Amino acid sequence: MKKIGVITSGGDAPGMNAALRAVVRNGIYKGIGIYAFQHGFQGLINKKFSPMQRGSVADIIQRGGTILQTARCEEFKTKEGRTKAAENLKELGISGLVIIGGDGSFRGGELIQKEHGIEVVGVPATIDNDIGGTDFCIGFDTAVNTVIDAVNKIRDTATSHERIFVVEIMGRERGFLALYAGLAAGAESILIPERPTSLKDICDKLEHGFKRGKKHSIIMVAEGVGGDFYTNRDLRKTPAFALSEAISDKLGHETRVIVLGHLQRGGAPSARDRILASRMGASAVDLLCEGKSGLMIGMVHEEMKATPLGEALAQEPQINEEILQLSHILSL
Ligand code: ADP
Repeated sequence: MKKIGVITSGGDAPGMNAALRAVVRNGIYKGIGIYAFQHGFQGLINKKFSPMQRGSVADIIQRGGTILQTARCEEFKTKEGRTKAAENLKELGISGLVIIGGDGSFRGGELIQKEHGIEVVGVPATIDNDIGGTDFCIGFDTAVNTVIDAVNKIRDTATSHERIFVVEIMGRERGFLALYAGLAAGAESILIPERPTSLKDICDKLEHGFKRGKKHSIIMVAEGVGGDFYTNRDLRKTPAFALSEAISDKLGHETRVIVLGHLQRGGAPSARDRILASRMGASAVDLLCEGKSGLMIGMVHEEMKATPLGEALAQEPQINEEILQLSHILSL
């Protein structure tokens, strides 16, 4: 292999730049030409690219977001769009492609390999941490730290005013971020989509805490949570607002809502994410150089491990029961 393309695609995540840096520098170290395309798959279709030098990725290891920019590309979901992208790559003599992104991007990658023989390796980057074949995705650790930092500040006010704070965390289908950040921030309750909780259970736990002298409570709610705290009038509200009102109605306590939103996606990557991204980016290039593709690089038990893209996509990432149980026990 002489030339490799690289894109960042889908939702951005802190550490994407560190992964790009590792792809470029390990590629150049191995004597391979690295071509970075802008705006994800759209850049492959529009031929928006730059040949990379070692200096092209200087001073980016500490930057959040992605210098290549990312995009959702509807055209790539069509056969014609993928054909155009593959033809452009072939015209440039590029036979391998590293995709730094989430599961949607990997589905696209799997198709361009199957249909056109472009050799693809995926590097998982998403703060949702919801991809199979890896224990952790790039960006997750930074997001956990960002949430903890926010909750520390919220706790100061919660203690001073003896209030219940309901904090809404990103995670439409999976509650990894709410769970890990909730455990690390010492949240009193953690609600995740995988485990619906009843309003009664939440209120019983709050009352139990107040009886033993707790002055405040932090409830972490993943945005995809459902439950019996939703009434008809609540259907257009986010779960945090619906839950907050339901608690106030039932217990008569004052509650406040904080929706952390997109601030969870930004910021300088943590040390852990920079190291993970550096290892994954370099490993992706190693795999392509060894003639291996159709894979996603992951970290399993702290080791780099490649899994076929289809297998990684078919896996349902599971919530760690031990952590879930522990967070409950420690917050009683
Ligand atoms: P993420 O990679 O973060 O999961 P998306 O799901 O938005 O983000 O996917 C990013 C891009 O990947 C899409 O805009 C599209 O170009 C491409 N993509 C997603 N799903 C498919 C699919 N089933 N077939 C082809 N391309 C896809």
